[in-house]
Parts: sequence; C-alpha cells; structure tokens
Amino acid sequence: MFGQGLLKGLEITWGRLFGKKHTVNYPYKRIEMFPRFHGRFQLDVDKCIACGLCVNACPNKVIEMEREKVGKKQFLTKYVMRIEYCLFCGLCVESCNRDALRFTNVIDMNQYRRKWVRLTLVDRPAPEAEETPEEAPAKAAKAEAAAGKAPDKEG
Ligand code: SF4
Ligand code: SF4
Repeated sequence: MFGQGLLKGLEITWGRLFGKKHTVNYPYKRIEMFPRFHGRFQLDVDKCIACGLCVNACPNKVIEMEREKVGKKQFLTKYVMRIEYCLFCGLCVESCNRDALRFTNVIDMNQYRRKWVRLTLVDRPAPEAEETPEEAPAKAAKAEAAAGKAPDKEG
C-alpha cells in the first residue's frame, strides 16, 4: 500500500509522544545504572602490586603512576588518572590481573574546572623499608660503629 512506511513511522512517533517517559530530571532524579556500567574508577591499593600493566594497556596515556621499591616489593605512591582523555574503553581494567582496578557505576564526575577532573586514586609516601633477618646484624654493627665514632658531647 502506498504510504505504508509513513504510517508506520507516525505510529512510532505518536507512540513515543504519549507513551512512558524514559528520561529523568537529573540530578534531582536518577536512574539506576547497570552493574557493568563504565563509571568512576576504583583502585584497591591493597591488591595493587604497582606492576604498571594498566598504564601500558591504556591507548591514551591516561594513567600516571609512581612507585618506589620498599624492601623487595614495589610500593605504589601515586596513581592519577587524567580522566579528560579517558575513552572508558576498559582496557586498563581488563589488563589488571589482580582485580585491583575496577569500574563503579558512579556517573558523577563532572567538575567546574578542567583541572579538577583529574582523578587522584593514590597519593602517599612510601614507608621505611623493613629490614630482613639477614640485614639486621649488619645494620646493628653499622649503628654501633657510628655511635663509637661519634664525638662525646657531654665529656
Ligand atoms: S578506560 Fe581506556 S582510555 Fe580510560 S584509562 Fe582505561 S585504558 Fe585508558
Ligand atoms: S591496578 Fe592492576 S595492572 Fe595496574 S598497577 Fe595495580 S596491579 Fe598492576
């Protein structure tokens, strides 16, 4: 029939016009996001081993990471995400084999200033290295020698 496509199109248009609304008055009302939504990032610092796999996986060089060697392990001191360049592709999350980096379904990342958009997930100093049982006698001997050499202030 001539004009069948037009009638079909109008049917959809009128249906949407008077049907149930799917938009909400954000930010006063919110819709519940899907559990797998790619929202704000979350980093579990206890699981992170500062391996840098996520940094290398990112095609846009979004992640800035700093680490320090403490004893035999790497200690994560800084983890900043330049979210303004992020594609939310999820390659960083997929590359993390410790399940330390995750997406949440939080969508509120809007800021008034561009420089505030950056997401600082970790910014902390590295702790003092713990001495191993092998290192302890050598360290004690060194301290004793230093004390013996030190000038006696009272005498
Ligand atoms: S989601 Fe994609 S673009 Fe964003 S930090 Fe991860 S790898 Fe980079
Ligand atoms: S978040 Fe995961 S991939 Fe990235 S440095 Fe930490 S452990 Fe490695």
